[in-house]
Order: sequence, then C-alpha cells, then structure tokens
Amino acid sequence: MHYVSTRGHSGRKQFCEALLEGLAQDGGLYVPETYPRVDDATLDAWRSLSYPSLAFEILSLYVSNIPPVDLKAICEKTYTPEVFGSPKISPLRKLENGLYLQELSNGPTLAFKDMAMQLLGNLLEYELARRHQELNILGATSGDTGSAAEYAMCGKKGVRVFMLSPRRRMSAFQQAQMFSLQDENIHNIAIDGVFDDCQDIVKRVSGDLEFKQRYKIGAVNSINWARLLAQVVYYFYGYLQATEGRSAGASFTVPSGNFGNICAGHVARMMGLPISRLVLATNENDVLDEFFRTGIYRVRSRTDTLETSSPSMDISKASNLERFVFDLLGRDAGRTKLLFEDQLRERGAFDLSEDPCFADAAARFGFRSGRSTHADRLATIRDTWERFDTMIDPHTADGVTVAHMHGSPEEPMIVLETALPIKFAATIREALGREPDRPERFDGIEDLPKRVKVLPADAQAVKDYIARIVQAC
Ligand SMILES: *Cc1c(COP(=O)(O)O)cnc(C)c1O
Repeated sequence: MHYVSTRGHSGRKQFCEALLEGLAQDGGLYVPETYPRVDDATLDAWRSLSYPSLAFEILSLYVSNIPPVDLKAICEKTYTPEVFGSPKISPLRKLENGLYLQELSNGPTLAFKDMAMQLLGNLLEYELARRHQELNILGATSGDTGSAAEYAMCGKKGVRVFMLSPRRRMSAFQQAQMFSLQDENIHNIAIDGVFDDCQDIVKRVSGDLEFKQRYKIGAVNSINWARLLAQVVYYFYGYLQATEGRSAGASFTVPSGNFGNICAGHVARMMGLPISRLVLATNENDVLDEFFRTGIYRVRSRTDTLETSSPSMDISKASNLERFVFDLLGRDAGRTKLLFEDQLRERGAFDLSEDPCFADAAARFGFRSGRSTHADRLATIRDTWERFDTMIDPHTADGVTVAHMHGSPEEPMIVLETALPIKFAATIREALGREPDRPERFDGIEDLPKRVKVLPADAQAVKDYIARIVQAC
C-alpha cells in the first residue's frame, strides 16, 4: 500500500513516511492509493476479535513497511484495559431501542482523541528508534488535542512535546490535566494571549525552515493519516457490536469540528463497512453543515467563529475535508488543488452546488448533516439524563440532538461519544444543576503541582525556549 497527496505532487509514499511528514510537501493530505475492500466473510470473522486484534487486522491492510509481529505488538501495547478503562476498550451503551452511544472517552484524557493519539505515540517511538531520529512536536491547543498528545508522548523515547496553550483560558480541569504531567520530555508553554496567538506562533516557528530542520520540529495534528487510520478501527468495532450476529446496515452520528473523526467513518464505508448514513453534527459553527446541505464551503473569519459551549467543535475551517472532497471529485487531484489552494486563497470559499458530483453525494457517500445550539445541547443533556440515566458531555449532546433528526426505526444509530462530562463541568451544572461525575483517578487533580512555562505571545521567545531545552539535552 502506498500513499499519494490529494494535490497530486508528492509522489508515492510508504505509511511511515506519511506518519512522520503529516502534511504532504505540496500542501495536500495523504490518502491511500486505493481503499482495501473488506468482504462479508471477513467482516463476519472479525466479530470475535478483541479491540487490539481488530486494530491489527485493519492496520495490516494499510501498513506495509512494519513487520507484522511488530505491528501486532504495537496494537496490543496500545489498547489495554489499564489505559482505556475496560477490556472492551470501546463498549457500546444502549440508550433506547436502536439508539446507541459508542464510548470512546475512557482513555487518559477523557476524550476520543486518545484512541488515535495513544497509537500514534507508540508508532512514532518505534519508527524514530528504527531511524535513529528525534522529533520535537510543536502544537497549539485550546484543550483536548494538546492533552491527548502529551499523554500519548510522555515518557516516549526520541520525542519531546512543546505545547502552547492560551494562559488562563482553559478550564481548571484541562489545565490540571496538562500541567500536572511531570515527564521530562513534556513542555507546557502558557502564552500570554488567546488560542489564535498560539496557533500563529506555531505557524511562524514551523515556517522558519532552517529552525524547523535544525530542531527537528514536527506536528501530530488531525490531518496525520495514522491518526485517521486508528479511528477507522472503532467504526468497525461499533458496527459489529450493534449488529450482533446479523449483517445489516447501521448509521453513525459524529460530533464534528475538523472533520477528522467522521472522515474515518467515510474511509470505513469506502472499505465496504455497511454504513447507511454518516450523520455529521455541528454546533453553531456550522461551516460543515452548510457544505453538506448546499455544496458551498465557506471558511469563516476569526470574528465569525463563535465561542460555544461545545468548544472543541468551534472551528472556522475543517482541515480534513479535503480528503472527502478528493473522493467526491473522483480523486481528481488537479481539481482538488484548484479548490483548496486557489479558490480558498482567493475567495475563502468554493461552490460545488451546481456540480453533478455533489448532486448525488448523499446517495453515494451516505452523508447527512445537522446543527445544534446551546439550547439544544442543554435540553439533550437533560433529556438523556432523565430518560436514560446517562450523563453526556456537550459535544456528544450535539451528536445526540442531530441523531434524533436522522434516525430510522429499522436500523441501529450509533452516536460517537467524544468526551466525558467532567471536562465541561460548567455546562453540565447549567443543564442539570449538579456536578458531573468524576472518575476516581482524577480526584484532587487540580491540587497537583503544575509544570508550565509562561511566555509572551512572541514567536522568537518560543524559539529561544525550544533551542535552550533541546541543546541542554
Ligand atoms: C476534537 C473534538 C471534536 C471534533 O472532532 P474532529 O475530528 O475535529 O471532527 C469533537 N468533540 C470533542 C470533545 C473533541 O475533542
């Protein structure tokens, strides 16, 4: 299996090259040359597999340059009950007939990003050791991504993490999660500024190619193909649990921001998993709902991006959408480049509303979409609590809200749970008038000693800091 760029100019790459590069050199995203098909007999045989064994089977279809024994060991080391809270790793929870929640947030940072990031940590450690290389991961976070990356990389050989976050702007719980890590290779940097300042600094530091090469700066953002591939596994696993013993269709609803999570569902469907509908849920930042309803993709400006009570979905553009549009356009790299490079740069938008490829997109690819608001979120959290005795977080609530719009009585609908309520206590209090449940291992986390460096919103200050740390090692 080889990988090509959605913009057509980066040659054919091996899995581990795509893993380390992240973004392709032509600015496109790596996609597999073809999607391997999984037939019914294979799917049936997979019903009895544990999560790590299923992960190994699926990864094997895409990874050709890691020996199978090593790949199997990596999967088994990653998906353990100790790290993910239960032997099932990602159990289904039935809410009512035909409606399920797939638990994906029992990992170290209580959000679904652990499912992929934990695997990425082990893959990177393996590949860097094999190449005798080091990597300094630089990122910006407003919460979930940064902590998932840190918990995946802490203690890993050959990797350091420099994670920027806006000073005093994350929830107390999120700050405690990140800043209480005491591992030598994890460096929290609180920037005097907002999240956009952090992102700008990351762009400026990575844009200095000499610095980037000299200090081996890399990223682990959601466009990394390995992260996406890790997420494909839980669609198969959720499907197999919901359809016990019979082959039938099932649908998924996915709370979405950067289109990473649901893009993995698209890949699973292209592999032949019988997904009827892939329902995309947004919050008030509805750039993706607009695209799937109208065919018009219109990037929002900073001022048009709202701060909502499902903050991990507050996006102005969706970095993974390019992978889906590439398939939508019949894998035409020239046209993909035209839309994502030229048209987005010139107009901040592109329009496929009149294009024949968009007209039958819902039928061909199964996509549906919907949008949820703060009031919907609160009502759904309350309703799910009262009727099903289940507390869900605001992002998952956006999913449940939109799933109700697109459910059908004949088929299971699986809503992906993207975080646990404890991460977003204020909204839970507003909805339910009580504190969210807190998993025992997080008792008192806010009181632990914190390890964080405060720096001004200045790229040079961040460069100097990185240089000092790397040279001292
Ligand atoms: C990252 C995140 C999302 C959005 O996922 P994408 O892959 O960016 O679409 C939704 N909910 C939570 C809690 C998240 O952390």
